[in-house]
Amino acid sequence: MALMLFFHLMSKGQPYLPIVAVCWVGFTLIHLLHWAWIRRHPRQLVGTSLRTGLFYCSNLCVTALWLPPDPLLPIWLILQVIGAFIMLGRIWGWGTLGLTLGASLWLLGRLDLSAYPNVYETLCFTMFASALMGHIYVARFYYLYDRLQEQQQALQLLASYDPLTHALNARAYYEQSNAQLHLCQRLGLPVSVLFVDLDHFKSINDNYGHAMGDHVLRQAGMVLRECLRESDLLGRVGGEEFSIFLPNTALESARNVGENIRAALESLPISFHEQVLRVTASIGVSCSPAHCDPPPLLERLQQRADQAMYEAKHSGRNRVVCEGFEAVAMS
Ligand code: GH3
Ligand code: MG
Ligand code: MG
Repeated sequence: MALMLFFHLMSKGQPYLPIVAVCWVGFTLIHLLHWAWIRRHPRQLVGTSLRTGLFYCSNLCVTALWLPPDPLLPIWLILQVIGAFIMLGRIWGWGTLGLTLGASLWLLGRLDLSAYPNVYETLCFTMFASALMGHIYVARFYYLYDRLQEQQQALQLLASYDPLTHALNARAYYEQSNAQLHLCQRLGLPVSVLFVDLDHFKSINDNYGHAMGDHVLRQAGMVLRECLRESDLLGRVGGEEFSIFLPNTALESARNVGENIRAALESLPISFHEQVLRVTASIGVSCSPAHCDPPPLLERLQQRADQAMYEAKHSGRNRVVCEGFEAVAMS
């Protein structure tokens, strides 16, 4: 395509053909360097190649077909510098400036420019000024882009996590637990679910105020996280209700995790504004054993853990009950 345009231009007998030709060579050189760079960064291949290709094609077309042959051609070159910053980024923008300026000065030196005594100063000044503007524009763009990314990450956190306890919210918890459940079932691994409900939480709100209630929830969330492994999932599925998904965990181990949580909550003194209280929890445990056939759905496991938790409530609270087992009284 470049060759076609080149011959088209030659057939028109343009007097500034050398300037255009050297620009072509310069831009093609940059293009080749860029191509070499892209080969080492394949992830950016499509986007960057497309942008670069579009940039140079439009460049060639406009230069060859529409530009009048007069000494104001540098104006077009100046525009190329800003374009290079926008399309290719700051490093390539400055590279383009160096190349274009060098080629332009060299070519202008071969032309009779006696009618334009200030052409060198004007060219250098305007090219540097436009490069600076391009640089600032791109820097500002990246700054705003980074801010946008940060905000998107913050939104993503807000959409998945409960801001009070930093546990997953119900939607994210069920979504992630379901994915883990399917994986474990495919691998024939056991999974367990714990349902944790704080005891007499309403009376904490009533006696100490909602601020204290919130503080207790925050502390409880912290204790629960400390008792779990990185691979376990903790979700706040109700006001003072948490659900825990334990992948690759059989009933006995899940019961031990539940017991650790119960004991850790019971022994934690929670202080807030010079008031100290303790909180306990009733915990229900359900399990899908290894190679379970048919495999239970997450809703069913959750329901069974919920029933076990109610069993713990009815038999006196502050205890762990596994599905299918009688509640054992705590000392
Ligand atoms: P039980 O031992 O039977 O579980 O009794 P309970 O009082 O813990 O349970 P109940 O369901 O009667 O009360 C739960 C209370 O949790 C009621 C509600 O006001 C409170 N709650 C729910 N969400 C929040 C919250 O985000 N902050 C605070 N401070 N309280 C909450
Ligand atoms: Mg409850
Ligand atoms: Mg409760």
